[in-house]
Amino acid sequence: MTFCELHKERETVSECVTCGKGLCVGCRFYAASEPYCEGCTKELEREYTEFRKKQRQRVLFAGIAGSSAGVALVLGWQWAMFRTGFGMAMLTPFLMFLAVGGLAFGMLRIVGSRTVALFVIGAVLAVGILIGGEYIMYDYKLYQAAQQGLTAEKLFQFKTENTFSDHLIHMGVFDYAFIVLGMVFVWRRLWPTRKEELVILRPLAME
Ligand SMILES: [Zn+2]
Ligand SMILES: [Zn+2]
Repeated sequence: MTFCELHKERETVSECVTCGKGLCVGCRFYAASEPYCEGCTKELEREYTEFRKKQRQRVLFAGIAGSSAGVALVLGWQWAMFRTGFGMAMLTPFLMFLAVGGLAFGMLRIVGSRTVALFVIGAVLAVGILIGGEYIMYDYKLYQAAQQGLTAEKLFQFKTENTFSDHLIHMGVFDYAFIVLGMVFVWRRLWPTRKEELVILRPLAME
């Protein structure tokens, strides 16, 4: 049987998980469900505050870096499309979703979560493949129509027959929407880590 250093008449009930000091019920703090002495609790709180600050900085950095890279990618891609015309359109779905996946992965690596990164990439790519398939079918059909000689009339007919795909392919905002979707996924996954708190229980009040 051991007795508390501070309260000589009281038995120790636990040991501090950091320094191993014997703790009576009047000295025992609980932090994240583990027993700690007062000094180690303070140290833990300080480290935790420091960690949260760093974490917030990393999240902020990932957000800014990801958004800037996203905007740069979209603007760069629009420029490439403008310069090369239809030829590059075939690659749009692949490149867009690779870009979003890559961005999400990069941002999550910065904040340090691999499983979340895989989840985000999987989700973005799954949706990307669905929508991308639509783009490709449209491109392919247009290519086939062009093989048979594409007059202005035929092009008009083709467009009225493929209004949905036509709508998709000309909706530049759609590409932006995917970038935003990727970001929303990432932020949604990051949100819980931003709110995680260190729970500290103080010792029982003694007479
Ligand atoms: Zn301690
Ligand atoms: Zn004590």
